[in-house]
Amino acid sequence: MDYLLSEEQQMIKDLCRQIAVEKIKPVAAEYDESGEFPWDIVKVLAESDICGIYIPEKYGGMGGGVMELAIATEELSWGCGGISLAFAATGLGTFPIILYGNDEQKAKYLPDIASGKKLAAFAITEAEAGSDAGGIKTTAKKDGDHYILNGTKQWITNGGEAEIYTVIAMTNKAKGARGASAFIVEKSMPGVSFGKKENKLGIRGSATREVIFTDVRVPKENLLGREGLGFIVAMKTFDHSRPGVASQAVGIAQRALDESVQYAQERRQFGHAISFFQGIQFMLADMAIQVEAARALIYATARMIDSGAKGISGVSAMSKTFASDTAMKVTTDAVQILGGYGYMKEYPVEKLMRDAKITQIYEGTNQIQRSVIAAYLIKESLSKK
Ligand SMILES: Cc1cc2nc3c(=O)[nH]c(=O)nc-3n(C[C@H](O)[C@H](O)[C@H](O)COP(=O)(O)OP(=O)(O)OC[C@H]3O[C@@H](n4cnc5c(N)ncnc54)[C@H](O)[C@@H]3O)c2cc1C
Repeated sequence: MDYLLSEEQQMIKDLCRQIAVEKIKPVAAEYDESGEFPWDIVKVLAESDICGIYIPEKYGGMGGGVMELAIATEELSWGCGGISLAFAATGLGTFPIILYGNDEQKAKYLPDIASGKKLAAFAITEAEAGSDAGGIKTTAKKDGDHYILNGTKQWITNGGEAEIYTVIAMTNKAKGARGASAFIVEKSMPGVSFGKKENKLGIRGSATREVIFTDVRVPKENLLGREGLGFIVAMKTFDHSRPGVASQAVGIAQRALDESVQYAQERRQFGHAISFFQGIQFMLADMAIQVEAARALIYATARMIDSGAKGISGVSAMSKTFASDTAMKVTTDAVQILGGYGYMKEYPVEKLMRDAKITQIYEGTNQIQRSVIAAYLIKESLSKK
């Protein structure tokens, strides 16, 4: 389908696909097995000027937005959904600075992210506060020109590898949801430490760790926006980053479809290639319809967000939910089409199925997304009355 991409967007797409084919695909299984962090691929992305595509030109980026991030994430995820996450999760950690940072904060942090010198991460989740982010216990206590951070964030993507962390902490517990604030915390600040690397089902090339704050003195200049804005920063960030998760899902799903089409023509049973059988043809057709529909929804959503439109939470949640449910369905079908071979690690599709699962869980589970969508529908309906 022709999505009428600009020349620059097409160039990003082609370059990222080339990196996925030549650099990521050949090493994806190795990283999946070892669980090591893909620094060599991060270096390739930095050298190819990919890291800054969604960062304003003024701060060393290419000046794109959610659309460019989505295009790149899909193509890199076609190569490996875990490796691509070093890049995509940096986007998640960077959006709060782009959206709420002042000029000094942007000038200090964005150029190194744009050049690929530093990775970023976003930290809100805690052991007892997942979907119910309002239950976070990490505190930030004002002390003169600093805030003192204490607490432990759980399952932070790029944890331990990133230099820059956007952290949501409570500055005033008594105020409930209005008592949270967002901070930029540097890895090098005394008192920042990390838990062990988690051993995961999928996206194993991505680092997931606890990030622990013990009396970390964060300068007041690192507060994003103002005190009390923490959850708004988080929710607006998710509005901008969820199409990225959706693109990761579509990249994985597209790869599963490509592998399935190829295998169906090669594998022969009953004297025919299995692509001859209508049962397989219909599965391939349904997979293709879902992948294309998901991509179309993401692009429409990304363009809407980049245009500065209001009321984007619902559509952003829709693209994340539809694309991730699609990825789970399509990758499971791919395993089915490859039969017993699909179940074996020698073939890439079982990894695709494992990698797809997380897209239904993080940045808000798909149950939570459906609640966001329903809230948006009800709000829209009430506004028309
Ligand atoms: C690999 C990985 C990477 C991650 N990366 C990050 C990161 O970089 N930064 C970060 O801050 N967090 C990160 N997370 C955390 C992630 O966002 C949370 O896991 C997710 O939001 C769900 O929280 P939970 O796991 O505590 O599940 P819970 O909230 O305990 O939910 C358990 C189940 O109950 C359902 N449920 C909960 N509440 C409701 C409700 N109201 N209605 C219906 N169903 C409900 C959920 O949908 C889910 O099915 C990561 C997690 C993983 C696994």
